[in-house]
Amino acid sequence: MPETGADIVGGCLCGAVRFRSTAAPIAARYCWCRDCQAIAAGNATINVIFPSDAVTIEGETADYESLADSGNRMHRRFCPKCGAPLFSQAEARPHLIIIRAGALDDPSIARPSGVIWTSSAPPWACIDPDLPQFPAQPPPS
Ligand SMILES: [Zn+2]
Ligand SMILES: [Zn+2]
Repeated sequence: MPETGADIVGGCLCGAVRFRSTAAPIAARYCWCRDCQAIAAGNATINVIFPSDAVTIEGETADYESLADSGNRMHRRFCPKCGAPLFSQAEARPHLIIIRAGALDDPSIARPSGVIWTSSAPPWACIDPDLPQFPAQPPPS
């Protein structure tokens, strides 16, 4: 966790989108669902969960809306210029925003504490055996 009072900042690959969180992350975890494999070039995404009201975003994002494997209607937002995946939000949980760890200026603040959707992972996936694993979507936190 970052020092108290230190905002967490980040952005997309090209710099057109920047964001800032005044709150520390609630949690971080790997997701191996098939949607995440598609946007993470074959790997799991690493998702850092923040309270939505602490996060401000500058710059235009594109929104891909879909029905997730969990049954949630999801909004996945990315930079329309460079394509970097940035945010996701479930309509059922608007108070939470997920930021992709790769978009953080300092991803070292977001050590994942669990792995979800392991049932969708390919056999060669590197999954940390020391972390709790969930075959699908765990109950909402
Ligand atoms: Zn960009
Ligand atoms: Zn996923």
